[in-house]
Amino acid sequence: MKLKKLISEDDQKLVVEAIKRAELNTSGEIRVGIVSRCKKDVMRRAAKAFVNLKMGKTEQHNGVLIYIAINDRKVAIVGDSGINQKVPDDFWESTKNLMIEKFKQGNIVDGLIAGVERAGEQLKALFPYKSGDVDELSNEIVLE
Ligand code: CA
Ligand code: CA
Repeated sequence: MKLKKLISEDDQKLVVEAIKRAELNTSGEIRVGIVSRCKKDVMRRAAKAFVNLKMGKTEQHNGVLIYIAINDRKVAIVGDSGINQKVPDDFWESTKNLMIEKFKQGNIVDGLIAGVERAGEQLKALFPYKSGDVDELSNEIVLE
C-alpha cells in the first residue's frame, strides 16, 4: 500500500516537522517508519528495518526508529546502543504506551508526534546538540 493512502501528505509533513524540531536540540537521529499491517512481531520487523535503513551507523549510536503498523495500532521503538545504554529501562515502553493511547483515540498523527517529541526530549538530555551537527539520517517518513 502506498504511504499516501496510509497517511496524508499534510500529516506526513507534520511528522517530518516534528522530527526536524526535535533534531534541532540533539545530535541524535529520529526516523519514523509506517507500514499498514504487521501480523507478526512488530518489534522484530522494526529491528530489521533499523538495520536496512543503516540506522546503526550514526557516529554516537544514537538513532531511534519509531515504527508503526497503522492498521493494527502496533508500535515498536528501536534505539541504538548509545541511547539504550542511557535511557531508563521503561522509557521506550512508556513512550509506546503514550502513542498507543493516542492511536486508540483515532489520532495517528498526534500519536506519532507525541512519540517523536518524547524521544526528542530524551535525546536532548543525553545527546545535546552541538554546533556543526550533521543530519546523519533523513527526516522523511519511511515506508517499508
Ligand atoms: Ca544529527
Ligand atoms: Ca535526521
